[in-house]
Amino acid sequence: MTAQMIDGKAIAAAKRQEMKTMVAELKSEGVVPGLAVILVGENPASMSYVKGKIRDCKEVGIYSRLLRLPDTVTEAELLDEIKKLNEADDIHGILVQLPLPEQISEQKVIQTISPEKDVDGFHPTSLGRMMTKQDSFVPCTPAGIMEMLKAVHVPIAGKHVVVVGRSNIVGKPASLLFLNHNATVTICHSKTTPLAQYTKQADVLVVAVGRAGLIGAEDIKPGAVVIDVGMNRNEKGKLVGDVEFDEVKEKASFITPVPGGVGPMTRVMLLENTLKAARKINQYRKAHA
Ligand code: NDP
Repeated sequence: MTAQMIDGKAIAAAKRQEMKTMVAELKSEGVVPGLAVILVGENPASMSYVKGKIRDCKEVGIYSRLLRLPDTVTEAELLDEIKKLNEADDIHGILVQLPLPEQISEQKVIQTISPEKDVDGFHPTSLGRMMTKQDSFVPCTPAGIMEMLKAVHVPIAGKHVVVVGRSNIVGKPASLLFLNHNATVTICHSKTTPLAQYTKQADVLVVAVGRAGLIGAEDIKPGAVVIDVGMNRNEKGKLVGDVEFDEVKEKASFITPVPGGVGPMTRVMLLENTLKAARKINQYRKAHA
């Protein structure tokens, strides 16, 4: 069997196209969705992600504001900037690009962002709402994974989903989201032994670790759906995932490539969350006019 490739780049491009119309509709009602991005320091990967996010905003008509701060910024100064953006009427979503310098607590930063503007979905309020199956901002990578599975009509309910990785931004929220969609979920991490015993049972395998070559063909069940979140540079400097793509695609039914899989979906879900935040404000405004 050769797997069908899930083309995240194409699915994301189609979603951006649809979003243009939705943004235009909102604008016709007097609301221009606005996203503020805070970038601390000069980390090249972070700079490139932020550039991409701003380009995406421009493409769909979302207003974006970039705030660049030096890596010597104090935690108090950064929190003050966030508080100002919490109050800004033209900003509906706030994103602080991670990682942050050592002197700054990521959790404090995340918790200072107003839950109404938490378009990354990392605030405990968003995560708690997701946990209790209430409407919430869903972290972009897990949300993007669900969207791509929906786009290729992969059913989730009743399936065994194995998630490798338990970070707060990918593994844990992805597991919760699959559970909310009625999957039976197994979460694996660095202390799971032997890992293959679990991955081989997966109908849908999500790998979010950050280790090239972690999952080979011998680690999956024939016909599994394989979602590769990992982003690693190989010895030639090429971007690769956590999954041995060439061999795994011969055994899987669906597989995501790296690059061009989960990455573009993550980016597009940020736009979707920003649009959602702006719509909520618009609804509130209309209700209280
Ligand atoms: P973290 O480093 O926060 O988490 C990695 C997880 O992998 C941890 O839970 C860790 O376990 C687990 N792990 C480490 N080694 C093993 C192992 N040998 N076997 C099983 N589990 C292991 O990473 P992130 O979740 O932030 O990111 C994961 C990967 O996804 C990275 O490559 C990152 O670049 C990429 N990424 C891609 C995105 C995209 O849009 N495509 C978005 C976000 C991330 P433990 O908890 O026990 O330490």
